[in-house]
Amino acid sequence: MSAGSEPGGDVRLGLLEPPAMLAVALEAYFAFDASGRVLAWNPAAETTFGYTRAQACDRSIEELIVPADARAGSRAELAALARGESGYALGRRVHWVAAHADGHTFPIEMTLAATDEAGGRVFHAFAHDITTAQRASRFTAVESAVARGLAEAESSAVAAARVVEALGVKMGWPVAELWLADDDRQLLSCAARHVGPGRRLRDFALNQLEPGVGLPGRVYADGRALWIPDLRADTGSIRSRAAARIGLRVAVGVPLCTGRHMLGALCVYGDRAEDPEDTLLALLNGLAAQVGQYVLRRRAEELAIELAHTKDEFLAMVTHELRNPLSVITGTAALLDDELDDLTREEQRQYLQILLRNAERLSIMADDLLDLARLESGHLAITPAPTDLTAIIEQAVEAAAATVEDKQLTVTVDLPERLELYADGHRLRQVADNLIGNAIKYTPAGGAITITAGADGAAQMITWTVADTGIGIPASERPRLFRRFYRASTAVDRRIPGTGLGLVITRAIIERHHGTISLADDQGPGTTFVVRLPIKPA
Ligand code: ADP
Repeated sequence: MSAGSEPGGDVRLGLLEPPAMLAVALEAYFAFDASGRVLAWNPAAETTFGYTRAQACDRSIEELIVPADARAGSRAELAALARGESGYALGRRVHWVAAHADGHTFPIEMTLAATDEAGGRVFHAFAHDITTAQRASRFTAVESAVARGLAEAESSAVAAARVVEALGVKMGWPVAELWLADDDRQLLSCAARHVGPGRRLRDFALNQLEPGVGLPGRVYADGRALWIPDLRADTGSIRSRAAARIGLRVAVGVPLCTGRHMLGALCVYGDRAEDPEDTLLALLNGLAAQVGQYVLRRRAEELAIELAHTKDEFLAMVTHELRNPLSVITGTAALLDDELDDLTREEQRQYLQILLRNAERLSIMADDLLDLARLESGHLAITPAPTDLTAIIEQAVEAAAATVEDKQLTVTVDLPERLELYADGHRLRQVADNLIGNAIKYTPAGGAITITAGADGAAQMITWTVADTGIGIPASERPRLFRRFYRASTAVDRRIPGTGLGLVITRAIIERHHGTISLADDQGPGTTFVVRLPIKPA
């Protein structure tokens, strides 16, 4: 090392030329004089603190790497060192928080040594970033806080809040979120969010996302952890852009799953760009597994309560839906028996038709109940083969022609000549019968029904819609629509008969084909169901 003197008489230390070994060391090395002026700065110091050698040398060490709120302390320390005292740091291994050129702060471990040179004392610092090591030890605290939080939580909402709080507060992530999928697996909702002090989320604060959208949606849809090292570079995602606008830089998401159940995603956001790091991923995955087990256990408990409720609904439904057609059948049969000889042939035919119609209603109900039982035991069989959806829809429309005419409904069908896909034709006919049957049943006389279907060759998907101008389904009830025995208030209020089973079975059939069914968003009069089916087998 060399020390020089400035022209003009004052002895001033020149910049140091550290040994070559320090140029390749992983440890950040920097030297400064008693006034805090930087004299040496190796390449590891450049990466650790974000300043090049040229930017750092000759500047005050305090300005460069000491966070504003710690400068009073560092000044006192430097003064002690200048007086020849050991201060807090000299000859010790110390931990403190450093500031990076981009503004974020991070923990470092540092040792400080001094040498006496011709121009005065020189202090030599060796430091390294200990974010990772600190995270691992803090994580143990997070895990026990989460375990305690889950054990004591009186509800899922409280449990979710404790998880994100532990991650946010103990790990220092400015934003931590827990997302859970709804029953239909169509939507993810933010069950809890921790936001660090003084941070405003603005348009980043979404509470619902579709699978595949945003970090939680992507993690949930792919079932894999995802690390976005620099949110500013992830310009394709609207949510990443919103995160970057509020100063968030890195995002990490892990799936919340237990074995084959995908439940949601756990996501944390930090304020400095950071490359994927295995330890953190492993820790987050472990935490997600713990939370996943809890959510599953809680859902099982909630399901047990719902099942007890369902049993009551089932009894009510069976009593009502079975009794009605049965009493019509017994009444009509008794009438026929008493008065057969007095009735004209036309009247006899009318009574027979009443018998047939009600027997059919019972038989449909028996089929639905059987399908439901198969569905619940996982035995709803699908036998796919090359199938023409146009033919299936046309047959279903034709079968409903008499009812359509009775109710004076207008049915418009817009289908290509053929619509080939690989599917179970018998089951798709069941879907068509249910959707068209519902459209007819829930549309008052004089209304209109529109059925369209078409293929998107590029996506290899078929989109099939069944729209009506009928009684509609209130937006607030839509999330419950695909539950067993669920009937919308619009149907119940008008006393339109039904069991609340058709849509459950319909959705199960479509999902077995790897497709989806949903309600179109528009709040206009009536209802539109949208079915999407893959053309080729998965
Ligand atoms: P069901 O029609 O036998 O009650 P579904 O499972 O087919 O059973 O439908 C469940 C509920 O969804 C119905 O009770 C009704 O409230 C609502 N629904 C289904 N289709 C329509 C529709 N096209 N228009 C209005 N409401 C509908």
